[in-house]
Amino acid sequence: MNLFPSIYSIIRTISFLGMALAVFLIPDTAIANKLKIEKQKIVYGKTKSGKDLYVIRVHKTDHKLPIRPAVLVTGGVHGNEYMGLVKEMGKLIDQTLPGFEEFFTSGGVMYLFPELNPDGVVTKNRFNSKGFDLNRDFKIGRAPSQVETNQFVNFIEKDLDKFHARLILAVDYHCCAKSLIYPEIKSKKSNFYKNHFDKIVNLMKTHVDPNYVSGVTKDIFGHATHGTLKAYWYKKYGALSFTYEGENPKREMSKLEGHMNWWKSLMNVVVDVYDNRLAQLTPEVQKPAKALEGPTLYTE
Ligand SMILES: [Zn+2]
Repeated sequence: MNLFPSIYSIIRTISFLGMALAVFLIPDTAIANKLKIEKQKIVYGKTKSGKDLYVIRVHKTDHKLPIRPAVLVTGGVHGNEYMGLVKEMGKLIDQTLPGFEEFFTSGGVMYLFPELNPDGVVTKNRFNSKGFDLNRDFKIGRAPSQVETNQFVNFIEKDLDKFHARLILAVDYHCCAKSLIYPEIKSKKSNFYKNHFDKIVNLMKTHVDPNYVSGVTKDIFGHATHGTLKAYWYKKYGALSFTYEGENPKREMSKLEGHMNWWKSLMNVVVDVYDNRLAQLTPEVQKPAKALEGPTLYTE
C-alpha cells in the first residue's frame, strides 16, 4: 500500500467520487453529458486517392491532471486483414462507459483509428495504393515514408503534445494468426515489461479467447520483423504495445463483446501504470534505421 499517494491519484479520487455522486443523482441519459465526455471524429489527412484518414478521439473535457494517460487502438493497416472491430469499438465506447469511467475521469484520452490504410481496406489489399507495406514503415530515427503513415504519426505526436498526454498502451489489430504479439524487450526495466505483457496476454485469454497464443514476432511467425507499429510505440514512448492477430473477420467480430471486456480490464492496468509505475515506461534510444531492408515477409 502506498502511504503517500501521488497528487494524481488524490485528484483522481476526488474526481471519481464527484462522478459517482453525479451518476447517483442524475438520470442515465444525462450521464455522458454530465461527465463531459467528448467523442470526436477528426480527419487528419487524405490518402493519394483522396480517402479520409480519420480518428475517433474520446476524452473528458474537464479534468485537472497535468499529464494525461493515453491509449491507442488501431486497425486496417493491412487491408486484406481488416476486421472492422476498431470501428465497432468506436461506436460502442459511449454505451459501455461504466467500465471506462476511472480511465476517463483520470483525464484519459482514447484514440481509435479504424482504418490506417483506407485504400487497402477498400481493395482488400495488404499494401497501400503505391504497393507499400505500411507495417514496415514505422522506424525510429526517420519520418515514415508513406502519406498514410506520415500523417498518422504526425497527428498522434502533435495531439499527445497538445493534450499533455503520455501513451501507455497501444494495440494494433491484424488478422489471422490468433495471437497477441509483443515487442522484443531490450530495456533495462525488463521485469516491468515482462510482467505487464504477461498480464495483458492473460486478460486477453480470459476475455477474448483462451486458445490464442502469445510471444514476440519470431515465436509466432518464425522470423523477426522491422518497422512494425507495435515496436514503434514501445521504442519511442516505452508504451506497452501489441499486435493483435484475430482468427478471421467474421469469427473475430463475434467476439466483440469479449474485446470490449478485455479493454475494460486493460483500463485498470493503464490506470495502475499511470498512478504507480509511470517512471517504469522506458523509451529505447535507437540508432537511425538503415535504408537497406530485406524482402517483405507477409506476416504481422
Ligand atoms: Zn497484418
